[in-house]
Amino acid sequence: MKTAIISGASRGIGRAIAISLAKEGYAVIVGYCHNKDKSKEVCDLIIKEGGIAEAYKCDVSIADDVKAMVEYVKAKYSTIDAVIANAGIGAYGMLIDHSDETIMKVVNTNLVGCITLCREAGRVMLSQKNGSIVTLSSMWGQVGGSCESVYSATKGGIIAFSKALAKEFAPNGVRVNCVAPGFIDTDINSNLTKDNIDSIIADVPLGRAGTPQDVANAVAWLVSEKASYVTGQVLSVNGGLII
Ligand code: NDP
Repeated sequence: MKTAIISGASRGIGRAIAISLAKEGYAVIVGYCHNKDKSKEVCDLIIKEGGIAEAYKCDVSIADDVKAMVEYVKAKYSTIDAVIANAGIGAYGMLIDHSDETIMKVVNTNLVGCITLCREAGRVMLSQKNGSIVTLSSMWGQVGGSCESVYSATKGGIIAFSKALAKEFAPNGVRVNCVAPGFIDTDINSNLTKDNIDSIIADVPLGRAGTPQDVANAVAWLVSEKASYVTGQVLSVNGGLII
């Protein structure tokens, strides 16, 4: 039995990734920070379909939480085959209006949380000499988004981190790749008005918003054996918006 940890899998993209990886035969750890009930719903759905899933509370901005989750999974399942560093939050607004607290929260959740999870899981994967990590960046990490400068910084950092880590872990058989979604219809965009959304979609060559499943399909491929010669890559899932 292969095991996958997905941080922030109670909703949105992480939820779709957890369901997809469960269908691929992984026992999935459905990480959450606040929404225990939603995480349990995801697990119930997977278990109803014959899969294996359990919810685990882990605030990725707290290193001890991440450490405890990885230790728990290693002790219970013996191996950690895939890790998806998905948990993330947005921060919309002018930089000059961001408080210290907002900046630190976004950096600690999106960037430090990703790094800490990769470090803890990496210790297990390097000793196994096997494993696959996928990190979640964003098109704003590739080109920068106005009024999302701190968010963009964290997502750009994730790209550089993932490429560096791919080189570092490859000699031990561990692959690291990154997915950079475009506009995906989830709660993270709930601050946008219908007009905002319509104008974003008008610029998408494929003419629609992405779905969490679009991203999950890319992640499922990257962790699979079909991508066994792929590491250090950034796969854009954005309908052609950023090429
Ligand atoms: P959602 O807001 O729908 O879901 C966010 C998830 O992250 C939830 O499961 C939430 O858990 C979890 N989370 C938030 N804070 C923490 C924390 N401190 N520790 C652990 N988990 C946490 O977002 P999306 O599904 O849209 O985003 C998933 C990832 O994809 C993010 O990294 C995001 O930046 C990235 N992305 C999204 C895009 C989009 O347009 N949707 C575009 C580009 C990138 P809980 O429910 O418990 O709060």
